[in-house]
Amino acid sequence: MTQQTDVVMVGGGQAGLAAGYHLRRQGLDFVILDAEAAPGGAWQHMWDSLHLFSPAEHSSLPGRLMPAQAGETYPGAGHVVDYLTDYEKRYDLPIQHGARVDAVRRHADRLLVEADSATWQARAVISATGNWSRPFLPAVPGRSTFTGRQLHTVNYRCPADFAGQRVVVVGGGNSGAQIAADLALDGRIQTTWVTQRPPRFLPDDVDGRALFDVATARRRALDAGRSDTGGVASLGDIVAVPPVRAAGLLTTKLMFTRLTATGVRWADGSQSDADAIVWCTGFRPALAHLAPLNLRGPRGRIPTDGTRALGEPRLHLLGYGDWTGPASATLMGVGRTARDAAREVSGLLM
Ligand code: FAD
Repeated sequence: MTQQTDVVMVGGGQAGLAAGYHLRRQGLDFVILDAEAAPGGAWQHMWDSLHLFSPAEHSSLPGRLMPAQAGETYPGAGHVVDYLTDYEKRYDLPIQHGARVDAVRRHADRLLVEADSATWQARAVISATGNWSRPFLPAVPGRSTFTGRQLHTVNYRCPADFAGQRVVVVGGGNSGAQIAADLALDGRIQTTWVTQRPPRFLPDDVDGRALFDVATARRRALDAGRSDTGGVASLGDIVAVPPVRAAGLLTTKLMFTRLTATGVRWADGSQSDADAIVWCTGFRPALAHLAPLNLRGPRGRIPTDGTRALGEPRLHLLGYGDWTGPASATLMGVGRTARDAAREVSGLLM
């Protein structure tokens, strides 16, 4: 049976919830379809020791401050899941969990949203599917020949899984630094952290608050028609969160040239054995459900004006990164972009 609504939100992580909050304030009829069986989006799957890089009050969605976590300046991922679970309930958001959307198609003056649970006809769609479900692995020579274990950030849980092993962590971003620190601090693991270029740490006193200020200044400049002040990448790549500082990992080995059956080969021809490689090499936006709309531009991205898809004004994309709004892939940053998207959708449907 096909169901009717004003707006279908695809994805019920923090971006979907923030947009849901604003759609409700706009008085629109909508449903949030989320593939996860439980609330919390990607935060349910982070590794055990992960903590936010901002204090709770700087990690809040619109309307409701994240409460502090007892004994922690920087809340853990489980605390974020609790907060998002509470957020869904508090605002009575119409969310269906365990509902994966396979395709969004044009259908006369509606968009047809095909989920495994049901099909919806909507006047507009907001896609907020994040990137956690699309881990990226670089093409490295010999990758398939390595006989040890290979895993991505999304599969990493805790150091106990690697006790007594030699582990190579690849990646110069926050995930690489934090997972390398997590392993190194355990003391039972021989950890080698590998990056493509020397790691760029932010000063110790810079946490997510400062990054948010940079993103806000950028948004204000762009809104006022001034020149782009640059994103947070201009400051550095890695937030020196307490475990990263404690591990003292200030240098890395530069990227190996290939994997061998037993480890890695370095640029000077020498080799190191390894039991496991952890690829902290990022993600790509999860956009497969939008393929029938044929909107992809260069580098696989869907061209947008703000959050609105240029080739399909009834479609908005939210939370995939600076691409659809400054800092919109962060808890604190997504609220304003979500508000703008909800307002624009509301205006379209008037
Ligand atoms: P997600 O949380 O991934 O939610 C998307 C939802 O859509 C998921 O529930 C998914 O199952 C669902 N979905 C996907 N495809 C479909 C489909 N086809 N149909 C239906 N549902 C679908 N941000 C901060 O603010 N502070 C931090 O300290 C911080 N630390 C981070 C640390 C790490 C290691 C990572 C990876 C990110 C961190 N971030 C942090 C960034 C950011 O907050 C997260 O990436 C966030 O999870 C993005 O939210 P989202 O709602 O866009 O996506």
